[in-house]
Amino acid sequence: MYMRSFARLFSAMAGPRPVVFSGPSGAGKSTLLKKLMKEYDSVFGFSVSHTTRKPRPGEENGKDYHYVTREAMQAAIERGDFIESAEFSGNIYGTSKAAVQDVRDKNLICILDIDIQGVKNIKRTDLHPFYIFIQPPSMAVLEKRLRDRKTESEESLQKRLKAAQVEMELGKEPGVFDVLIINENLEDAYGQLKEALLGEINKVKKVNVSS
Ligand code: ADP
Ligand code: 5GP
Repeated sequence: MYMRSFARLFSAMAGPRPVVFSGPSGAGKSTLLKKLMKEYDSVFGFSVSHTTRKPRPGEENGKDYHYVTREAMQAAIERGDFIESAEFSGNIYGTSKAAVQDVRDKNLICILDIDIQGVKNIKRTDLHPFYIFIQPPSMAVLEKRLRDRKTESEESLQKRLKAAQVEMELGKEPGVFDVLIINENLEDAYGQLKEALLGEINKVKKVNVSS
């Protein structure tokens, strides 16, 4: 689901290019983007998605996600409040127009953490973000990380692993992502991420210092 008219308006506005993070659940997207936002808090802002899943221990409503009921989410989608939304592992997730606009209003680089369906839908809009794919070193490592995270039921874990097989294939397809990072060693992966974004980081730093 997407709203072309909003995206056209959005892309016409001056401001830094958003960055989309995607990749299998457990690949390390949150770990990497939290590290990035901590080091560059005056450069990046997170697009806080809505979800119908329950918060995990340590997650905060309004910071990690807006946690909503399925009914509220469906009503908001029907109202046209979302740029994109998708069903993933038994729950609905979506990027609201307001979530992206809030970051844009602060002249920060907007970070979106979305699944592969979200990537496909955002590609049909005029948002024109950078697309970064975070890949685990192997399916076995992915499973271990997900199990060690201790956030998923066995059912949810199996759904995520199944989705991961499809996502890994799309990550390899040429032209879908601008940058592919294999998150084996965290510091190495983070270094690659910073290198990929350095040009944009410096642009935003310059604008925000001089304004
Ligand atoms: P995602 O946001 O993609 O679902 P997370 O960032 O939650 O993934 O990472 C999944 C788990 O793997 C977390 O427990 C995290 O601490 C761990 N992790 C992330 N990157 C690495 C890494 N390079 N080496 C080992 N463990 C990692
Ligand atoms: P989790 O439940 O682990 O936080 O997220 C599960 C999946 O949903 C991840 O692949 C994550 O990128 C994706 N996701 C989070 N927010 C959104 C969103 O707003 N839209 C879409 N399409 N996917 C999202």
